[in-house]
Amino acid sequence: MPDTNDVLVRAANVTKVFSSRAGEVRAVDGVTLEVHRGETLGLVGESGSGKSTVARLLMGLQPPTSGRVLFDGHDLATLRGRALRTTRRRMQMVFQNPYGSLLPHYSAAGNVMEPMRLHDKGNKESRRAEARRLLDLVGVSPRFADLYPRQFSGGQQQRIAIARALALQPDLLVCDEPTSSLDVSIQAQILALLLDLRTELGLTCLFISHNLAVVERLATRVAVMNQGVVVEEGSTAALFHSPQHPYTRTLLSAVLPVRGGV
Ligand code: ADP
Ligand code: MG
Repeated sequence: MPDTNDVLVRAANVTKVFSSRAGEVRAVDGVTLEVHRGETLGLVGESGSGKSTVARLLMGLQPPTSGRVLFDGHDLATLRGRALRTTRRRMQMVFQNPYGSLLPHYSAAGNVMEPMRLHDKGNKESRRAEARRLLDLVGVSPRFADLYPRQFSGGQQQRIAIARALALQPDLLVCDEPTSSLDVSIQAQILALLLDLRTELGLTCLFISHNLAVVERLATRVAVMNQGVVVEEGSTAALFHSPQHPYTRTLLSAVLPVRGGV
């Protein structure tokens, strides 16, 4: 029997069907996926393959149509009240569009303080001090703590969003295309920051991207999605060097033509 104790979050045969006037979309179709403590699981696949839906299901932001999501052994669908709040604060998310994810009328520090306020952590003074510490940690000078999101560049905004995601000391950080909206040079800086933070804070990460080069750099293990299904899963080295599924091979040869022979 595998040691299930090292599984932080587990999706067990989850399906998500969206119904609209245009008909039904099986965005996620019977996915079973585990994120182990301390690992960075990369989730790749082309646009529309269901990656963001998997993220929202794992975070408990949407209920699955069928199947279960277990966080640290607890079924998210059965958690209520205090237990739900406690579990919620243990998982945080970083989104593709940092500006849209920040509160525009709150300062940088205010944005980072907000989750602490919502979860009654400390008092106003200690929250402000912690926000400044976190801003410094992610590379935003605390001197700029009182500026508003629009006064920062996209890369700096994403750093603020990362600081906010860290404010409640989460066990799981879900990053959904966190660098896709940024300039290439800035992408590298944000990836380097995430790598540093992961090591420094011992974070468990789900890292979603359609960019395989980015995933190869960050992930310890990779799952490949196609049309709502996980078609292949393995260690980053194994998956990039000897992909088994035809879809993974297509994905790899499309972005890394030098490896077209694999
Ligand atoms: P990805 O993140 O890989 O681009 P998504 O999870 O966003 O994929 O979307 C997967 C599929 O589900 C797409 O066909 C998308 O249009 C559909 N979808 C996602 N969210 C909704 C929703 N709220 N209502 C209807 N369809 C949705
Ligand atoms: Mg998406």
